[in-house]
Amino acid sequence: SSHHAFTNTPEPERRMRIAVLTSGGDSAGMNAAVRAVVKAGISKGCESYVVREGYEGLVRGNTAPLTPRRVAQRHLPPERLARFSNEALVKNLSFGEGPALKEGAGDADDDEEGGTLKGRYIVQVGWDDVRGWMGEGGTFIGSARSATFRTPEGRLKAAHNLIKEGIDGLVVCGGDGSLTGADRLRSEWPELVQQLLASGEINEHQAALYSHLKIVGLVGSIDNDMALTDLTIGAPTALQRICEAIDNINSTAASHSRAFVVEVMGRHCGWLALMAGVSAGADYVFIPEQPPKSEPWEEEMCEVIKRHREVGKRKTIVIVAEGAHDRDLNPIKAEKVKEVLSNVLKLDTRVTTLGHTQRGGRPVAMDRILPTLQGIDAVNALLEATPSQPSYMIGIRENKILRIPLVDAVQQTQAVAAAIEARDFAKAMGLRDPEFDQFVHAFNMTSTLDKGNRLPKEKRLRVAILHMGAPAGGMNAATRTAVRYCLSKGHKPLCINNGFKGLLDDNVVELSWLKVDNWTARGGSELGTNRTLPDIDLGGLATKFQQHQFDALFMIGGFEAFSALLILERARKDYPAFNLPMVHLPATISNNVPLTDFSLGCDTSLNALVDACDAIRQSASASRNRVFVVETQGGQCGYIAAVGALATGAVLVYTPEQGINLDTLRADVRFLKARFMLDEKGKSEGRLILRNEKSSDVYSTELITNILKEEGGDLFDSRSASLGHTLQGGIPSPIDRARAVRLTMMCMEFLERHAHEQLQYPPHRRRGTRDTAAVITIQGSMIKFVPVDEMVQHADMKKRRGKHTWWEGMKDLAELLGGRTDLVAHK
Ligand code: ATP
Repeated sequence: SSHHAFTNTPEPERRMRIAVLTSGGDSAGMNAAVRAVVKAGISKGCESYVVREGYEGLVRGNTAPLTPRRVAQRHLPPERLARFSNEALVKNLSFGEGPALKEGAGDADDDEEGGTLKGRYIVQVGWDDVRGWMGEGGTFIGSARSATFRTPEGRLKAAHNLIKEGIDGLVVCGGDGSLTGADRLRSEWPELVQQLLASGEINEHQAALYSHLKIVGLVGSIDNDMALTDLTIGAPTALQRICEAIDNINSTAASHSRAFVVEVMGRHCGWLALMAGVSAGADYVFIPEQPPKSEPWEEEMCEVIKRHREVGKRKTIVIVAEGAHDRDLNPIKAEKVKEVLSNVLKLDTRVTTLGHTQRGGRPVAMDRILPTLQGIDAVNALLEATPSQPSYMIGIRENKILRIPLVDAVQQTQAVAAAIEARDFAKAMGLRDPEFDQFVHAFNMTSTLDKGNRLPKEKRLRVAILHMGAPAGGMNAATRTAVRYCLSKGHKPLCINNGFKGLLDDNVVELSWLKVDNWTARGGSELGTNRTLPDIDLGGLATKFQQHQFDALFMIGGFEAFSALLILERARKDYPAFNLPMVHLPATISNNVPLTDFSLGCDTSLNALVDACDAIRQSASASRNRVFVVETQGGQCGYIAAVGALATGAVLVYTPEQGINLDTLRADVRFLKARFMLDEKGKSEGRLILRNEKSSDVYSTELITNILKEEGGDLFDSRSASLGHTLQGGIPSPIDRARAVRLTMMCMEFLERHAHEQLQYPPHRRRGTRDTAAVITIQGSMIKFVPVDEMVQHADMKKRRGKHTWWEGMKDLAELLGGRTDLVAHK
């Protein structure tokens, strides 16, 4: 069968060839995806290729022969070849100066510049060709919209070229259109092969060898418009750009008491608009999936904004998705919204269209990590592909990288568009991921000031809210959500300043809707936080719980908050006041709360790390041959260092979990020497090593730096840098803000449910069952409330971290992509 065709090949040493292309609109993170596919391919013993200019490159293929230099390189042993830089590529593509494809132009390589790549679109690349690509926006290998590929003749040519170049597997990175194209090529493949055989363009042997197309999709699109995956590559960066813009607009809008209408990208998908609304705190959003409920839409919008102005708000932000429309599919445009705001509400209104600024710029941490993990998995999927399996798209749910049948993803995505077209908006919403619906709900609860959600008096609760431990990005967004959720339901949000100490001093305030308005964008902890645990005065605290008549407790913080919850839960038997439902939302840059894959603040912190390391790397590269040892925070938990290494392209990483010893150090020195030796003279770049502050008491950052300096000799020099508190990261990232909103909504519903159960009993008869003291956790693709006494079983209370970590593998992956020779499995 064709499954075994590969082993029947007449050239037994022939290695599998993997090609990657980027298609459709460019997005941040595409370069990282290409880098990961190229490197993972090489490290698994394949030959890696890139297809320039998307499907158009596939259709055009190679008409010119290999350059002499490249021919010479092909005779090198594979481990040398893999590393070798393809001169042509580095010159013409990696700096964005390659020949561009013009619509309708013949061969675009006619100019001098394009020299060595003239007539070549399917190009073998080496390890060093993709060096430094992770931190760059756009796509270096080019993207295009190919009309030819939409035709059967175009796809026939593409198939022929793939077979001619001996490509065994193809990775396509693009949006829903591009993946539809990929799915089409996949489904037509057997026919195309038969056609090529019939016309004599390929022989029987080729037809047998390539009877099955191995193809994998990576979703690269700023819109996040692909069904069955939470995030697309490029969406987090686009969201970051939008939130930066809105944060900036916010301050000027408030100064002049103005209204701003912000138009963001998203033709069929309101994800960017909705998420920007949630994380930047807009007053109103227009998205294609859910047009305003009542007609005319102008009234509904004005109602909401009028309410906001009436409670004293000085500014108005309305976000309009590019593809927004009313229930009859009449477009709702920013200019029209502006007219309404000016004429009806008499607001001084301006329109800001963000346009292509949303696509560009340096990728955020998530758009480095996600494409890297997915690119590696794409290669694995190609290697494991069999004719009986479907072709996959690589997606993600919460924290789990998933393989989803490409057909399903494409069909479901098209179904959303069809539902909108048919004006069946409920169906469109239902077809989007459940998360989308949760965000719509969250936005409505926190933004509309609608009194319709109020519960009857006897069901209204007094909810205590407090921060614990070190500040982390998203804490304030979580608090804002909690406060507004409470107000919309008629509960009293009682915010405790300065943690448990503050409660003992009766430092409790009831915050208003307006007071927390700007809190999404604020770093640090607005309520004030400290590490004091409740056991300083349990009796005193129990009295305060009673005195303030708390019905529920919401704690936002790191390992301390978890410890505090444990103390309170265990004290329930002595102090009945603690029998109220309590929930802890993990927020810590160390990400050391057991069981949860993420805490609030992690994403902000990784972004700060990436920013700092980009700057450090630039300096390191400028002085050539330099190794920077960068020290990170994180306590006894290696999360930031390990995942940070993947996000920054660090070649080595040290974590407390694995520790450091002489043997590993010696091996690491050997690796670095070997790595620098492979570089062309004078063309080395700087390299990064990340070291968590607590990785070893003996092998300090300074000692390691000195060892490397001594051992590096003529090959490399070393320096150190400590990132310290900069990792708390200033302004919280949109991902942290949005995660804060979503998880807080769930926490509030959890508290409400349990508190209402307890309200059936008189206070002295209320018993807190174990599941009413819980931590909200993200575990793989699930969100789970875990009772605190179950959490303890997964905690190393002494080292203040979980017993198991999901990111241990990240260290190996980072080192693999760093070219760690002993991990690279060449045949
Ligand atoms: P974005 O969402 O960022 O715009 P996209 O991948 O959806 O990206 P498109 O312009 O829709 O962008 O598609 C890119 C290319 O994919 C097209 O130019 C075409 O070559 C190919 N393609 C799209 N749809 C199909 C299809 N139905 N059949 C064959 N090829 C297609």
